[in-house]
Amino acid sequence: MPKTFLITGGAGFIGSAVVRELIENSDHRVVNVDKLTYAGNLESLASIADCPRYAFIQADICDAPAMQRAFADHQPDVVMHLAAESHVDRSIDGPAEFIQTNVVGTAVLLEAARGYWKALQASDPQKAEAFRFHHISTDEVYGDLAEGPSSSFQLPASSSLFTEETPYAPSSPYSASKAGSDHLVRAWQRTFGLPTLVTNCSNNYGPYHFPEKLIPLMILNALAGKPLPVYGDGQQIRDWLFVEDHARALIKVATDGQVGETYNIGGHNEKTNLEVVQAICALVDELRPKTSSFQLPASSLIIFVADRPGHDLRYAIDAGKIERELGWVPQETFETGLRKTVEWYLANREWWQRVLDGSYQGERLGVV
Ligand code: NAD
Repeated sequence: MPKTFLITGGAGFIGSAVVRELIENSDHRVVNVDKLTYAGNLESLASIADCPRYAFIQADICDAPAMQRAFADHQPDVVMHLAAESHVDRSIDGPAEFIQTNVVGTAVLLEAARGYWKALQASDPQKAEAFRFHHISTDEVYGDLAEGPSSSFQLPASSSLFTEETPYAPSSPYSASKAGSDHLVRAWQRTFGLPTLVTNCSNNYGPYHFPEKLIPLMILNALAGKPLPVYGDGQQIRDWLFVEDHARALIKVATDGQVGETYNIGGHNEKTNLEVVQAICALVDELRPKTSSFQLPASSLIIFVADRPGHDLRYAIDAGKIERELGWVPQETFETGLRKTVEWYLANREWWQRVLDGSYQGERLGVV
């Protein structure tokens, strides 16, 4: 039975992968609510934008009347809440926007969802019973797994992965604001009975990733023969997941997850940042056109720059619960996913060039 999904942040990196997956591989309807900040790009949805099962609303999740209208007009069965300020470096330069969107915006959305769901209980109890609010969050809420004085949280060596029970210990304004939003969602479930689900995922990579993030930045710099800046000594460890695997996991949780539960999502791909950059260099050397102006080994471009304040040393997630209980497993290894990603950036120059020169924003404002 086709459902209506209200997706916030559907023009972002992960949100657009969820929207494309739902439209291309199911009969469900999608309503995408997105403010279109610098991170929102409707060009990432060009392949599905004309589908009659897809609708777009440009709105801020902090705008309560706009959120109430979106619920009233579209009567969703499932909310998937991805809208957020998501870049750690930007949260260090300007935390206020992160508190506003990630904390206040989530509270506004929860209240709009609660009002809609309460009304449904009277008008359509079956639909109210099946309603789900799925909040999408990050493993960065758990802090890091490093040992030693600089680590925010220390685990015994035997339990060296984040589980759903790991206490929260966020390090950056970004992860603190996401932790705050996770707590709000849990409180709305416990206090008001709103049928919520929470997922915490490791670092994503893949097509349509905004070029300020590590992997696309390194691919594009390596193609252009520009320096590849690595923070500190590059030994920070991240667990990487291909974005389309994350999108499939999210849809699985939204449709089959147990109300009130949290599911960790990860790819079992722990790599140091330096290993990731070296893997990108090897792929760029192999795949770049032989006519490129820069033909030296891409690894010769690696430089080490001052570390980011509060930089978490290691994240690694135990995704056993979602695998056992919902049968989700990633389809891509880091090697296959990274190859697809480099190939995508080589084949989709127009998408990223319009991001780099800003024209992706101008057009939607009617400027270009
Ligand atoms: P993104 O920055 O690429 O996209 C965020 C989207 O939200 C953009 O389209 C933006 O326009 C929209 N948005 C921002 N503020 C808004 C507001 N006030 N109202 C409406 N829309 C607004 O982010 P992403 O990487 O796709 O991440 C999506 C979600 O997944 C976030 O909640 C993030 O915390 C979480 N997450 C991300 C990762 C990752 O590796 N990228 C990993 C785990 C969890």
